[in-house]
Amino acid sequence: MAENHILAVNELGKAYVTNDTRAEILDGVDFVVDTGEFVCVVGPSGSGKTTLLKCIAGLIPPSSGRVVFEGETVTEPPAKLAVIFQDYSRSLLPWMTVEKNVELPLHKAKFPKAERPAIIAEALANVGLAGKGKLHPWEMSGGMQQRAAIARGLAYQPDVLLMDEPFAAVDAQTRIELEDLVLEMSRRLKMTVLFVTHDIDEAVYMGDRVIVLSGAPAKVARDIAVDLPPERHQLHTKNLPRYGELRAEVFELIQQAKRPVTQNVGVVRA
Ligand code: ADP
Ligand code: MG
Repeated sequence: MAENHILAVNELGKAYVTNDTRAEILDGVDFVVDTGEFVCVVGPSGSGKTTLLKCIAGLIPPSSGRVVFEGETVTEPPAKLAVIFQDYSRSLLPWMTVEKNVELPLHKAKFPKAERPAIIAEALANVGLAGKGKLHPWEMSGGMQQRAAIARGLAYQPDVLLMDEPFAAVDAQTRIELEDLVLEMSRRLKMTVLFVTHDIDEAVYMGDRVIVLSGAPAKVARDIAVDLPPERHQLHTKNLPRYGELRAEVFELIQQAKRPVTQNVGVVRA
């Protein structure tokens, strides 16, 4: 069974220990992702989404449970997994051109030097930045910078792309454009994406599945198959009655999750 899943999060727990205080952030988070799926993880701010993503990416060790990527338990950042973070202004190096930024991860991996220009050009074209490679990040709008960060993730040709609230720092119009860009790209390139957001609308609009995190510590409250037509459209999809129902279901789960938090902030003495 497990062989069909490209990624499995098994009973994952994570606590941060600072001084003598132990804060339980994740408790028994459990789900799988199949090849080619677009899976959204939604939860309120501070619920542990970035913590979950960092465990999946092998950047921090879990306190319990494990992450299995392509059949191997993750103990360090896997080579075939890329992460795109929220804050593009901190992820792109300002003194390098966009081209050079996109080239950065290619140095580490098995990309022959002669092939890199074509890989970079294709990645930039895929995000609508063809011909913009010679610009520096500071010569670009926020939306263009985030496109460049996405291009860098793509150039690396990962088997799974992890995205941590990638559009939280851009304006509303750019956000809509980037949502549609990522959806279109993921379909065209048959990518497997795990997309983390606190935005309920974004999660339902983007996902083939929505995993709702709730509680403190967080666990999977529900794993919802998004039974909307696969081709998404900002107006038509969001006008469908089913879209409204799914949105309401996620909203309710998150509201329920917030209630106990006031009594139990998830902090206990170690
Ligand atoms: P989200 O991404 O859902 O907003 P995070 O995973 O960033 O949530 O954070 C979850 C909780 O863990 C927050 O209360 C945050 O303050 C805490 N936290 C995050 N990183 C650390 C850390 N390195 N050490 C201690 N606490 C942390
Ligand atoms: Mg976060």
